[in-house]
Amino acid sequence: MYYNSILHRVGSDRMKDVFMIGKKGLILLSLLVLLIIFISLFIIPKDKSIKIITDKNVIENNENYNIKISYPILNDKTIDDKIKKLVDETINDFKEEVKELDSSKSYDLNIEYESSDNNLNLYSIHLIIYKYLGGAHYNREDLVYYYNYKINKELFWNDILIDDNKTLDRLAAISKEKLMLEYKDYLYSDESLNNGVKPIKDNFKIILFNNDNIKVVFPPFQVGPWSSGNLKINVKYKDLNDWITKNYQKTVEDTTANNDISSRSVRNVFDFQNEKLIALTFDDGPARKTTTKLLNGLKERDAKVTFFVLGSRVNPMKDLILRAYKEGHTIGNHTYNHKNLTNLNDKEVISEINDTNYEIEKIIGVKPKYIRPPYGSYNERIINLSDGMTFVLWIVDTLDWQSRSVNAVYNKIIESAKEGKILLMHDLYETTVDAVLRAIDDLSKEGYKFVSLEELERMEFITLSKGYISSFKRNH
Ligand code: ZN
Repeated sequence: MYYNSILHRVGSDRMKDVFMIGKKGLILLSLLVLLIIFISLFIIPKDKSIKIITDKNVIENNENYNIKISYPILNDKTIDDKIKKLVDETINDFKEEVKELDSSKSYDLNIEYESSDNNLNLYSIHLIIYKYLGGAHYNREDLVYYYNYKINKELFWNDILIDDNKTLDRLAAISKEKLMLEYKDYLYSDESLNNGVKPIKDNFKIILFNNDNIKVVFPPFQVGPWSSGNLKINVKYKDLNDWITKNYQKTVEDTTANNDISSRSVRNVFDFQNEKLIALTFDDGPARKTTTKLLNGLKERDAKVTFFVLGSRVNPMKDLILRAYKEGHTIGNHTYNHKNLTNLNDKEVISEINDTNYEIEKIIGVKPKYIRPPYGSYNERIINLSDGMTFVLWIVDTLDWQSRSVNAVYNKIIESAKEGKILLMHDLYETTVDAVLRAIDDLSKEGYKFVSLEELERMEFITLSKGYISSFKRNH
């Protein structure tokens, strides 16, 4: 009995111990679960393959004012709140200012943005605020935000660029040289130009970081008058790597050493930006005979177009690609093997796109920015896998592959010709080449100009990183 009761006691103490450990274990387990939740919420980086999640648009019109606003939303509370606060305050200030003005007139507030990102997870946003409160022109304010979407952190100028006189001197020298080269007739001719490129930080605060280069933006009145608009220059990473901080330096292979692309013919877009513009695009090439004939004809007519080339054709036709690029045409990506991308898995999609970019970059020295998915077939997944390329569709399909008739293709071009249109055809058919050259001759007489996508981008008639485009329009 006694023995039993001891046993019982020992047994029950043991049971108690086991129970106690269990309780501790339970608490530890709960803590562990909480810790895992905490880590997954705050520490493990989220998948940020979508660089820009969405944008917010505000349109408000009445007899006193027009408000049109578009700003990006990055799904990061800190930077989103910051931009939203600025936008809200700007709207309130504008409305207050309008109250003080002549109520028989109408006033404008526009906020828009451009952005770029690169494969170092660096996202650049350039926000432009235009305000019209009467007077000869708009007031304009430019703001820049940088964001690393891998570590979810806002960055500042000196997180990316080395903040010293050497950097500023270099930026000033390169800017002046490039501005003179590209915009000679649109710059101030006096001391104002020197002030605008003086090596001070304020002159170089609007810099967007792309994959292969940086874009330095000069707003109106900095280096040229209001009428010259936004002037911008691109500088390749290889020309500036030593004044970029370690985290954001890029290793770009210089594969263009043997291809002389320095003599590329680049038109001054200001010469024709007020004409009626059409963008002709040619898919599936290049093809030796027909592309050569087309290039000859385009050169005679000073027409620039865009070629969406197949990766598989780049190496065999590299002389044609290089020629087209040097003659000022835009080279875009039409995938490697012309498969329907939506039927492929992620890895296949990435290689269809990247292998083509790689082949093209080897020849022309820059990575294409534009892609035309075969059959116009794509979806959100394909966009996310494309590493920030701009998807270019079309608004007019000439159906040249079907009709193979000079007259049918010619008629289709003539009857659909209108400012802002992107036309689709293929430089694989002699009939297409004959039709398009004849149409260019006739439409030129009506005042049309034929422009490449890069030219439209330089005129800001198309914007990159905003999903797909199938037409273009004037901004201001
Ligand atoms: Zn195609």
